Amino acid sequence: MDTLIPTINRLQEVFLTVGAEVIQLPQIVVVGSQSSGKSSVLESLVGRDFLPRGSGIVTRRPLVLQLVNIAPLQERQKTENGNGINQNASNSYSGVKAEEWGTFLHCKNQIFTDFQQIRQEIETETERTSGENKGISPEPIYLKIFSPKVLNLTLVDLPGITKVPVGDQPEDIEAQVQEMILSFISNPNSLILSVSPANSDLATSDALKLAREVDPDGRRTLLVVSKLDLMDAGTDALEVLLGRVIPVKLGIIGVVNRSQHDINTQKKLEDSMRDEQAFLQRHYPSLASRAGSRYLAKTLSRLLMHHIRDCLPELKTRVTVLSAQYQTRLNSYGQPVEDHSATLLQIVTKFASDYCHTIEGTARYIQTSELCGGARICYIFHETFGRTLQSIDPLGGLSELDILTAIRNATGPRPALFVPEVSFELLAKRQIKRLEEPSLRCVELVHEELQRIIQHCSSYSTQVHNLVAIELAYINTKHPDFADAAQVSASVNSQQAEALDGGKRWKNEKVAEEKAPPAGFGSPSKGRAINLLDTAVPVARKLSSREQRDCEVIQRLINCYFLIVRKSIQDSVPKTVMHFLVNFVKEHLQSELVGQLYKQTLLQDLLIESQDTAQQRTEVAQMLEALKKANNIISEIRETHLW
Ligand code: GDP
Ligand code: MG
Repeated sequence: MDTLIPTINRLQEVFLTVGAEVIQLPQIVVVGSQSSGKSSVLESLVGRDFLPRGSGIVTRRPLVLQLVNIAPLQERQKTENGNGINQNASNSYSGVKAEEWGTFLHCKNQIFTDFQQIRQEIETETERTSGENKGISPEPIYLKIFSPKVLNLTLVDLPGITKVPVGDQPEDIEAQVQEMILSFISNPNSLILSVSPANSDLATSDALKLAREVDPDGRRTLLVVSKLDLMDAGTDALEVLLGRVIPVKLGIIGVVNRSQHDINTQKKLEDSMRDEQAFLQRHYPSLASRAGSRYLAKTLSRLLMHHIRDCLPELKTRVTVLSAQYQTRLNSYGQPVEDHSATLLQIVTKFASDYCHTIEGTARYIQTSELCGGARICYIFHETFGRTLQSIDPLGGLSELDILTAIRNATGPRPALFVPEVSFELLAKRQIKRLEEPSLRCVELVHEELQRIIQHCSSYSTQVHNLVAIELAYINTKHPDFADAAQVSASVNSQQAEALDGGKRWKNEKVAEEKAPPAGFGSPSKGRAINLLDTAVPVARKLSSREQRDCEVIQRLINCYFLIVRKSIQDSVPKTVMHFLVNFVKEHLQSELVGQLYKQTLLQDLLIESQDTAQQRTEVAQMLEALKKANNIISEIRETHLW
């Protein structure tokens, strides 16, 4: 399996980069009857002598053996001493001075560098839960072997299938063991090594029978025929090995493991391998190249490699997608700034022109979700502001009594023949003042919009404030549009005067007036100082016809004049806003920005890149580099001709 190690290691590099789960190699599970040679087969796969073996029931708890590939000691020490990224520092094995070692889950902190001790510990731990007298337990022992010579792979050694309880074994030992085995081999990600000794009939193999139960198509079962050397004289396993007795899709591989005698005399693994080859050459010359422990290891490698190859397309897609994502991110960080002053000018100019384009409606990216820039300002002028103005009633908030009080206050102590003009003027001003609030609101809205495009602006509302003040400064009764209305009121007044000459109506009215409750009405403020708000007529009463007429005149005048002013305000506010605010900003933005920002002392600070950005750019670039490398590795592995 040595050839797989570099491949897996390189793939592991890929995974370290893309953060995906490591390609999960299938775990290899050995099944077979007791003493069929399961532990021996596993050992020859690992290439180390550390599993308890022997006659009778030896493996009495499942042993989950996790092999972990690590760098050779020399390399590990180099990385640890160097000041580069210390891959091993985060692992529990940093600082271990051995080339290979094992650890158990049940005593995590203990490091076993002596494989004899590992065997001893497995035996002790087995006895701890299963007793000393052949009892079994389904509770697995977890052993990790760290070595530069192993694949990252999980092997599971299981107790053998037995029929008759011995020692402390329960009556249903057979069922119990079967259940334990099934729990492991039913995992679809396990490869079943079904071990059957050559010196017993394959047709009675419990191992094959169990494997068939969970893998009826035989897609993940490999048959290992052990003890070829122990067959009765005059018999051989050729028919079996050729698949003529029972066909097995993935293959049937005959092996010769070390005998008990070999174990007792501590025969070296290499020696047994050599002897195995010699045996095969002698007894099965036609099959020698397709049998033996080494061939078994090769076959397993091939199966694992196929598995890896099946996983590669998905991995490749992942790497491609990630590369694209990281490339986009890297692009978004742009290049680090080199020429500070040129860059600043560029930024300011670009900003100012983008800003103006947004107002003009010539921006490169036209928003579709909402109005913005110039379009929004247009909306504010014509929809928001225009409609609000239109909705203002010229006579709103002005009751007839208000008008009457104003007339009376303007008249002073002596009754007047005509409706005094000053009352109109005062009331008209009061009504016009109501245009100020929506006008200022309009400025505010435009201002807000400008701020939305730019977070900078000063106050421009004074001009609009002045617009209303201008209207208030002089009520122009000679306004051409107002002339008609003035005429009308004059005619009404003269009619009034004629009527008064007759004296009759006047008298009647006077009577009516005197009858009416005079409270609060009898003492109008002196002269022409009128305070509309404080001196309201408090009591509602029916107005006399003259009062009604007076009111009507004033109302008509106010209405007419208000419409004139409103029209003018509606027209001049947007113009003022455009001139003093929008166009002003447009014209001065660039020079203002340059004036404020383009200073030698500021240059460095303004264009300083946040540390985060610089760091992220570096990290993303590194990741991209790693992804490219990963992509190469994957391509190489895919193209490699695999056995
Ligand atoms: P397990 O119970 O299935 O794990 O079997 P073991 O691996 O513990 O082997 C049981 C006994 O059979 C040991 O004494 C081994 O030395 C012996 N054994 C296993 N395989 C072979 C083989 O191929 N040839 C010979 N001669 N002995 C073997
Ligand atoms: Mg065993």
